[in-house]
Amino acid sequence: MSANLSHRRAERQRGFPTFCRKCGETAEIFTSRTLKNLGRLFHGCPNGSEEDKNHLFKWTDESAVEEIHDIKSLFDEKIGHLELQSQRYEDVLRSYDKRLKIWMML
Ligand SMILES: [Zn+2]
Repeated sequence: MSANLSHRRAERQRGFPTFCRKCGETAEIFTSRTLKNLGRLFHGCPNGSEEDKNHLFKWTDESAVEEIHDIKSLFDEKIGHLELQSQRYEDVLRSYDKRLKIWMML
């Protein structure tokens, strides 16, 4: 049971899901009406129901956290790359500056 559950979790789409993996239907956003999660948004399959839980179901706030983490990772990666590029350009400029000073002394 737990192996099956973790397997199913691994199959989940990261971030906002776009479609149901069971039937291929486009995901829609619904509002929970249960007392435990009243008003909480979730992405679900229009063909899913309380009885048939094999269709897409994912809390939207959890998807949003994944989206934010992924965007942050992407930004961190891009910023790291830009900092490296910037350092290389500064090194090139410094070398030109040294050459220019040598030429001016000649
Ligand atoms: Zn479905």
